[in-house]
Amino acid sequence: MFGGFFVMYAGVYNKSLIPYLLPVGSIGVLAGILIYFRFGPVNPSIKTIECPRCGRRTRLTGEFDACSHCKQPLRRTPEGTYEPHVPS
Ligand SMILES: [Zn+2]
Repeated sequence: MFGGFFVMYAGVYNKSLIPYLLPVGSIGVLAGILIYFRFGPVNPSIKTIECPRCGRRTRLTGEFDACSHCKQPLRRTPEGTYEPHVPS
């Protein structure tokens, strides 16, 4: 995303390059936005759930994870929710 802004910024100082830099800069910004939405906060593989033990919201990734507040181990169920999990 910043690369796109930089290219457009350079275009301000090289007026003759604007016809070439503008599309490239726009594509760079668009690609940056797409990457942001693909890997950013809306990534559906990262779930924010309410911890069943301490009640605070925590982010979980993968099949096994732990609450970031109280370290309660949590396991993902086939339904996509998380349940407390006691390691054996
Ligand atoms: Zn917790």
